[in-house]
Amino acid sequence: MSVVEPMTHDAQAAIERRRPGFRTVERLEGWGMAVHGISHVYRPRSAEEIAKVYQLAKETGHTIGFRGAGCSYGDAALNEGGIVLDLSAMNRILEWSPETGRIVAEPGVTILQLWQTILPDGWWPPVVSGTMFTTMGGCASMNIHGKNNFKVGTFGEHVVEFDLLLPTGESKTCSPTQNTDLYYGAISGFGMLGCFTRLVLQMKRVYSGQLLVEAFNTSSLGEMASEFEDRAPESDYLVGWVDCIKGGRKLGRGIVHQARYLEEGVDRRPRDLLTIAAQELPSKIMGLFPKSMTYLLLGPFINNFGVRMINAAKFWWSAMAPRSHCYYQTHAAFAFLLDYVPNWKLAYSPVGLIQYQSFIPREAATVTFEALLRMSRKAGLPPYLGVFKKHRPDPFLLTHSVDGYSLALDYRVTRRNRERLWRLAGEMDKVVLDNGGKFYFAKDATLTRDAVSRFFPAENLERFRSLKRECDPDNLFQTNLSRRLFGDPSTA
Ligand SMILES: Cc1cc2nc3c(=O)[nH]c(=O)nc-3n(C[C@H](O)[C@H](O)[C@H](O)COP(=O)(O)OP(=O)(O)OC[C@H]3O[C@@H](n4cnc5c(N)ncnc54)[C@H](O)[C@@H]3O)c2cc1C
Repeated sequence: MSVVEPMTHDAQAAIERRRPGFRTVERLEGWGMAVHGISHVYRPRSAEEIAKVYQLAKETGHTIGFRGAGCSYGDAALNEGGIVLDLSAMNRILEWSPETGRIVAEPGVTILQLWQTILPDGWWPPVVSGTMFTTMGGCASMNIHGKNNFKVGTFGEHVVEFDLLLPTGESKTCSPTQNTDLYYGAISGFGMLGCFTRLVLQMKRVYSGQLLVEAFNTSSLGEMASEFEDRAPESDYLVGWVDCIKGGRKLGRGIVHQARYLEEGVDRRPRDLLTIAAQELPSKIMGLFPKSMTYLLLGPFINNFGVRMINAAKFWWSAMAPRSHCYYQTHAAFAFLLDYVPNWKLAYSPVGLIQYQSFIPREAATVTFEALLRMSRKAGLPPYLGVFKKHRPDPFLLTHSVDGYSLALDYRVTRRNRERLWRLAGEMDKVVLDNGGKFYFAKDATLTRDAVSRFFPAENLERFRSLKRECDPDNLFQTNLSRRLFGDPSTA
């Protein structure tokens, strides 16, 4: 079973005895809390400090894994027994041009910092994750996608240039026209080729602090996909919530949210809403509960019965609205819905959750996702959240994207279901792979090496391995995920 178990105190002490001179030893978690690892953690403030840690790691025989905000659900930003370079303290915005929309940032700058810097000047990040706490380095490394992936591509497609610090201490500037192999490999390269130390990004012009949103119910995944196909040309964002508890004829029912930017001149007083204050998420849920406490209220509902009730209420509440139910919503409220309830993941305590996100080519997507939902129900492990998105291919070497759809499924992990859940994930992998599907390292905690060699084109994998040999011949850069999916170089 590919679960990373915590290190024993003896093992930890042994590492410290062998490797003197490291100051902080911390137990780090994947965002979903279900996987963890103990590491020596450094928080550098400059590229020079990063280079010093590279040197120290080589002298002491450690490996290095990079970490941004640690928002990857699984073990992508863990490096048990090695060094974790936490880049969150390198969080300065170096340049911002409101005329061109170009921004130069250190890798630890978060999406929160980004939008708060640019929005008052009438710009918005072209691609954001469902949480605003991710960092530029983490987003580039995983080549994240937003609810507009079908329209504007992935994060990487808006990275104009970056500096990558290689294990030798040499810094390479990469762009679509300079060091192009490294550009297409490091974006999507899950921190295996070097450390992003500076990124130049192109932002998107907006003419209001609000989007026009339309919400409506769909009775199946087939209907949801067909609405996405019809509406994509006129939409800027499309996302579907899927009720993963219901089976039978209600399997895959859900709610679609479509959003559009307002064109220039539509918002008569754009300055009023292009402010940070206007974007603030409300401090109380439904005007009643303080946000910070809401996860406590959510906790008792994180079980099959509770989620069934919540989903039914959500679906019928939305069904009561007229079919074309339009409203204005701020960019932050639409993009970062998950941040409404701070620490909502704690409702999954004491163990946590994993997310299983698969990406399937258009023709096979809905049938495959329905099969995954049926398998989960049959195993008695229904996902508690399902999110449906539309995607388009992109040019990065280890991209997860496809011309099709993804369904992200959240599963509660308990001590009792853990083994069954990992087994279910393995069985679902086969269905996804048989249907030409792909996976995404930012969300993964359960994949195996065999699966990886099936979903990436062999040519891309070979080009990536060759880049790794060239940039990092001694395998200095490793993570729990890289060892799980690409093998342990020390035992290869
Ligand atoms: C609530 C929630 C919602 C999410 N929604 C989405 C979504 O809508 N779309 C989506 O695509 N993803 C989504 N994600 C996943 C998230 O966007 C990715 O996992 C992202 O990579 C996290 O960024 P981070 O800064 O936390 O990076 P981490 O998780 O800390 O690290 C991610 C990877 O980047 C590497 N890395 C970090 N910094 C650097 C650096 N400076 N140089 C080189 N490598 C580096 C790490 O080694 C690791 O492999 C979501 C996650 C959460 C928790």
